[in-house]
Amino acid sequence: MTQEISIQLTTEPRTRPDSEKLGFGKYFTDHMFMMDYTLEQGWHNPRIVPYAPLQMDPASMVFHYGQAVFEGLKAYQTSTGELLLFRPDKNMKRLNRSNERLGIPEVSGDFVIEAIRTLINIDRAWVPTAPGTSLYIRPFIIATEACLGVRESHTYQLIVILSPVGAYYSGGLAPVKINVESSYTRAVQGGIGHAKAAGNYAASIKAQSNAKKGGYSQVLWLDALEKKYIEEVGSMNIFFKIGGKVITPAINGSILEGVTRASVLELLGSWNIPVEERKISIEEIFEANAKGELEEVFGTGTAAVISPVGELYWNDRQVLINNGQIGPYSQKLYDTLTGIQTGRLPDPLKWTMPV
Ligand SMILES: *Cc1c(COP(=O)(O)O)cnc(C)c1O
Repeated sequence: MTQEISIQLTTEPRTRPDSEKLGFGKYFTDHMFMMDYTLEQGWHNPRIVPYAPLQMDPASMVFHYGQAVFEGLKAYQTSTGELLLFRPDKNMKRLNRSNERLGIPEVSGDFVIEAIRTLINIDRAWVPTAPGTSLYIRPFIIATEACLGVRESHTYQLIVILSPVGAYYSGGLAPVKINVESSYTRAVQGGIGHAKAAGNYAASIKAQSNAKKGGYSQVLWLDALEKKYIEEVGSMNIFFKIGGKVITPAINGSILEGVTRASVLELLGSWNIPVEERKISIEEIFEANAKGELEEVFGTGTAAVISPVGELYWNDRQVLINNGQIGPYSQKLYDTLTGIQTGRLPDPLKWTMPV
C-alpha cells in the first residue's frame, strides 16, 4: 500500500501532564491515525487528525459481537534524543494473525509502521524523557458496519492512539504476588486466546478484579480443560527457572505469543542458558519448590518488560520465590532488554527501529 497519509493538525494543543503523574494509559497525545476499510476499496483514506471522540452508529458490529483486535508497543527516547521502536514488525505480524482469526481483513504491516512513525513525529513533544518512561502505542481495529446480523463486518476502522506512560516500577524493579486462578478460564484451544483480541480481556476481568481484592497484582491462568497446566499471566507470558533451566509454556493455541517472550528466549539462547518451551504443570512448580529447585519466576510483556514474581498462591498453597527477591536472570534480562530498547546497550540483532 503506497497511499499518501493526509494530515490535519490540531488548532487546540492540550497541556501535557507532568511525568510523575503519567501512570499507564491515562493521557493521550494531540493526534491519532485512522484508516478505513470497505469491501470495494480495501484499506483506504489513511489520515492523521486531531485526537477526538469517534462518532459511531450504535448498530456498529463491534459493540454487539466484539470484532476487535489490538496491539501494544512502545517508543523509547535514547540519551541522544533519538526515538526507538522495539521490534514493530513482530507486532504487525501478530496483528495480522489476530485479524485472520477474527475474520478481519489483513493490513500492510509496513504501512502501519510508517503511519506510526509519522504520527509519533507529529506528537514528538509528548514523548516523556524521565528514566523508565516511554510512549505507549496502541493500534486497534474495530468492526464498524451498522448491522445486527451475526457475520463478519464489511467495514472496519484501524486507529492508532499514543499515550505517554510512566515508569512501570516507580521504586525500581519489584517482585509481585500472583494468584493461580482455578475456576475461571481465559481461553481454550480453538478459541481466540492466541489472538490479541479485546474479547480475551473481557473474559479475564472478573478473575483479575477478584485477585486485586485479595491483594494479588495479577492472575496466573491454567489450561481450560484440566486446570493443570500453566498458560500465562493477565497480560504477560511466564517463565520459571528450575534447577538452572528456564522453562516457559509452549505456544499451544490459547496463549498469546509475546514479543517480549520471543526476545527473552533469544537472549537466553545467546547466553547459552538451557531453555525449554513445553507443557508445565502447576504441580511441577510446587514440587520444584519443595525440592528447593524453584529459583526464579518472572513475567514478560511490553508494559513491564520483566516482572519478577515473589509469591505464588494456588488454592491454599503458597510458594515464596527467591525469598521474595529479584533473581539474577530477571535482573539481567530486564537490564539487557531495557538497555537495547533505550539505546544504552548495543543492538546486535537489530531489534530497534528509529522513528
Ligand atoms: C500483549 C499480551 C502479552 C505480552 O505480549 P508482548 O508482545 O510481550 O507485550 C501476553 N499475554 C497477553 C494475553 C497479552 O495480551
